[in-house]
Amino acid sequence: MPLLEPDVAPLAPASTPSADRADPAIAGGVREPLAGELGAIVGDAGLLGRASDLIRYASDASPYRMIPAAVVRPRGVEQVAALMSYCRETSMPLVFRSGGTSLNGQSQTAGVMADVRHHWGGVEVLDDAGLRVRVKPGAILGHVNRVLLPYGRRLGPDPASTDIATVGGVVANNSGGMRCGVPHDSYQTVAELTFALPSGTVIDTGAPGAAERFAAAEPELAAGLAEIRDALRSDADLRERVRRKFEIKNTTGYRLCAFLDADEPLEIFRRLLVGSEGTLAFIAEAVFETVPKPAATTLAWVHFDSIEDATAPVGDLVAAGATAVELMVAPALMVAANSIPGTPEYWKELPLESAALLIEFGADDIDGLAVGEAAADGVLEGHKPFRLVDFTRDPETIELFWRVREGLHGLIGRLRPPGTALIVEDVCVPPARIAEAAGELRELLGAHGFLAGVAGHASAGNLHFMLTPDFAQPEDIERYESFMTALVDLILDGYDGSLKAEHGTGVNMAPFVEREWGAAATELMWRIKGLADPDGVLGPGVVLNRDPACHLANLKTTPEIEEEATACVECGFCEPVCPSRHLTTTPRQRIVLRREMARQEPGSPLLAKLLEEYEYDAVETCAADGSCAAACPLGIDTGKVVKGLRSAQHGPREEGAALRAAQRWAAVE
Ligand SMILES: Cc1cc2nc3c(=O)[nH]c(=O)nc-3n(C[C@H](O)[C@H](O)[C@H](O)COP(=O)(O)OP(=O)(O)OC[C@H]3O[C@@H](n4cnc5c(N)ncnc54)[C@H](O)[C@@H]3O)c2cc1C
Ligand code: SF4
Repeated sequence: MPLLEPDVAPLAPASTPSADRADPAIAGGVREPLAGELGAIVGDAGLLGRASDLIRYASDASPYRMIPAAVVRPRGVEQVAALMSYCRETSMPLVFRSGGTSLNGQSQTAGVMADVRHHWGGVEVLDDAGLRVRVKPGAILGHVNRVLLPYGRRLGPDPASTDIATVGGVVANNSGGMRCGVPHDSYQTVAELTFALPSGTVIDTGAPGAAERFAAAEPELAAGLAEIRDALRSDADLRERVRRKFEIKNTTGYRLCAFLDADEPLEIFRRLLVGSEGTLAFIAEAVFETVPKPAATTLAWVHFDSIEDATAPVGDLVAAGATAVELMVAPALMVAANSIPGTPEYWKELPLESAALLIEFGADDIDGLAVGEAAADGVLEGHKPFRLVDFTRDPETIELFWRVREGLHGLIGRLRPPGTALIVEDVCVPPARIAEAAGELRELLGAHGFLAGVAGHASAGNLHFMLTPDFAQPEDIERYESFMTALVDLILDGYDGSLKAEHGTGVNMAPFVEREWGAAATELMWRIKGLADPDGVLGPGVVLNRDPACHLANLKTTPEIEEEATACVECGFCEPVCPSRHLTTTPRQRIVLRREMARQEPGSPLLAKLLEEYEYDAVETCAADGSCAAACPLGIDTGKVVKGLRSAQHGPREEGAALRAAQRWAAVE
């Protein structure tokens, strides 16, 4: 081997062959004729056809992993339409991947994956006051909000993943957050959509004559939607049930409320696309009505003896104008106190059974903040928090407190046992019953050996908790299965709640859609799918799935790699800041590739190929500037891993040769 040619052997991680390793046959990349046929649609540059490309796109923030047959980066809606047409002809699944932060397996496929973030950015403010904004689906939510900042406006949906999640993903999942609740989610704030159907029809719902064009181009779809509308409206029980279930956050199944909220088929379909998780059509553009962003905010942690006491004032606080009311239990705050510098010392000593509310009021000026604080004091007077309520208006402290609330995922991610997954669950119950539900959930979690911590958007009745099973252990898959079955029973039988409040159904809750909605409503959902996507190519198995165990298939293992990165939860928060993201790979992808190398058996041709491609994609093109560590909720510095790999490749022999070459550089030149 020539001295200056890199030796990739030292890059190989310790091998821990696992059952979910990729088939070594993909070492050659995308097979023919698929590669050639896709290349003809998206061009050679639009086809990501190497083994590394298939592996780096296989994982997202969910506990699932599927290896795509090909990855493409379409440009323009015509190419997307051509891809859909190709997939229909060849019966090949097509899935859209944008930020890749979905938590339930909805942006994964063994078919064709279309990266619809790469060429799909763009924001246009439509009026002088920033009341409406036109956005491309690949635009990152946080970037859109920065454009809207000078207008004192922002988008309604506010997931904690705002700095990576894209508009396409947010609309397709109907994602929410701490402040948006039901009134400001995408369903309520998207005014117009441009979409492409699998048939190739492209409609801009805001264009003049759009309804007529839709009816003419898609007569069966339009007529079918009108029939479902009439059937639903004439069934009083179902109508009432649909209304009631969408009073709280709900992303289980399709949004049947569209048939009650709109009369015209096109308007019904536009509403159905919100929360459809890429299974009905491609969203090419969205126009949002924006919401006001308060100029100033004030924030307080308010501590109570129990979850019941903490949740009692929530309704009155919301009525008093609180813009956010978040619930956290004491153990979570204690973990934060021991991990996040600057958090209050007293958190370390909180009574274990206590719980806290994080209460926010917003206003246009300081006087307005005082009004909110006084209103909160009035509400809390009758509720006996065990510490003095102390609002802060200091922006740095406010940022720290939000970091604690939003950083729970990262904290648990960092502290969980090596090799385990990190799964975020997301249920919703009527807000008045949140204390009861939180108590029962904690018991259920404890009974299954999971961390009995819950947190949530208290004002919306939306509870989140985390599971950390090790999917390399069959008994942990069983434990997970039995927990999920019990969870479904608890939320549906006990509360008639939502199995997914804001994260989307994915494949994770797809087997339970009928359990939540009943046979009649679920049948309507299947009809919607059949009308929009008759060949079933868009995200098959996502949202609706006839396999009762699909939530237990394709669970990914988490093999250990370098200590710095081994806790990575594959959330993707590091991607938008990585200098090499448009050139080669991102930090998440560097880690995902290493995990696959670890899964492979020694001598596997796929391992050899991944190592070869890793040299340039991951090692040589990493800026190693630590920017990923600043964005990572776990503080992982992938650059540090890469520096370690570089030094592993450069032993004393190579160092000596480099030194000698440097000392005689004139001769070398
Ligand atoms: C740490 C962490 C915190 C999170 N916090 C929250 C939270 O607070 N609230 C919340 O609701 N969610 C949260 N999420 C989940 C996730 O971030 C959101 O669901 C987000 O909106 C997904 O956006 P994305 O761009 O990553 O989409 P992706 O995951 O890439 O895709 C999401 C879905 O949209 C489809 N899709 C994407 N683009 C299009 C398009 N153009 N047309 C049609 N379909 C499309 C995909 O096929 C897929 O079904 C969190 C995730 C993580 C990892
Ligand atoms: S390195 Fe950090 S930010 Fe990047 S995917 Fe892993 S956990 Fe997420």
